[in-house]
Amino acid sequence: MTDREKTSAIHREISALGKNLKERYPILKNQNAIGFGIFTFAIAMIVLAAWAYFTGRAATWAIILWIAFWTSILHELEHDLIHYLYFKNNRFLHNLMLLGVWIFRPLTLNPWLRRHLHLYHHKYSGTATDLEERGVTNGQKWGILRFLSTPDLILASVLNSRNMRHEIGQLYREGKFSKEDIDNLRKTSMFGFWPFGIPLHLVWYSFVLYYLVLGLTSLMAIQLTPPAWLQSYIGFVTPLVVLLIAPNLIRQFCLHFITSNMHYYGDVERGNIMQQTQVLNAWWLFPLQLFCFNFGSTHTIHHFVVQETFYIRQLTARQAHVILHNYGVRFNDLGTFGRANRYKGEMAA
Ligand SMILES: [Zn+2]
Ligand SMILES: [Zn+2]
Repeated sequence: MTDREKTSAIHREISALGKNLKERYPILKNQNAIGFGIFTFAIAMIVLAAWAYFTGRAATWAIILWIAFWTSILHELEHDLIHYLYFKNNRFLHNLMLLGVWIFRPLTLNPWLRRHLHLYHHKYSGTATDLEERGVTNGQKWGILRFLSTPDLILASVLNSRNMRHEIGQLYREGKFSKEDIDNLRKTSMFGFWPFGIPLHLVWYSFVLYYLVLGLTSLMAIQLTPPAWLQSYIGFVTPLVVLLIAPNLIRQFCLHFITSNMHYYGDVERGNIMQQTQVLNAWWLFPLQLFCFNFGSTHTIHHFVVQETFYIRQLTARQAHVILHNYGVRFNDLGTFGRANRYKGEMAA
């Protein structure tokens, strides 16, 4: 069997799993209502945590982890919305949901701009032009820089921007990017992290710097009293850090770590889905999967069956894994960490 034949067999068999499930439980056919229900419930859980924080009813660390979990579900909804799986024919509700999942995950790229990058990702996953995955460190050699830029999209793009700009120009001249791709990239780099991302990253860096300086000076037994305006600024931004920034950084670390290592990079045959991803579901990854809604286990299924919602994918994952395994899709290929995510082996330049 060729890879193309395997791909269509996997697509057929996994699609049937979802279809059968919906025949057995017809309630699952109410896709828009289910999506909207999950959306409102997840946001309600985050608002509940904010209430618990402001009334002092729960420990700060518990609030941060709780919100990180619910934002991981909002990420799945964003991804489904990018594929137009909810309210395709109701622009108002569709865009309202996209706005909602962005506001509660405000460190991320504008989802309307991400859509172009993501649909592109499906076509050319694992190649040089797959900037969505490369933007979250896929294909880089493992080290301290990759570790630091794993949760932080701004840091990752700053560290990469000089090389990337050159490379993107080159790829455009080679005809691998269209004019439309370049226009979208330009918009993404100028507006993608406004109005939320850039200001909130600045808040985060100032917050870290403040406590770093206080910590270091107290270690050196230096008495340092920050000016009143600075103290009140930190008091003002602390709820933002607890309720939005810290949970999303944790979630993004988990998601980006998993996604950038379950996608292959560099020596993937253009358009060959069999080579694009592996299933990453080793038991010890559980703490990371918890904050990216089991992404390592289910995203490979998505590459084969794009038009299915995340909750159906979760419900049928166990049977889908058997199918993937039978056709030779890789599972828990941990060698990827040493190969900078190359599919075949030795790392090219
Ligand atoms: Zn997708
Ligand atoms: Zn993917």
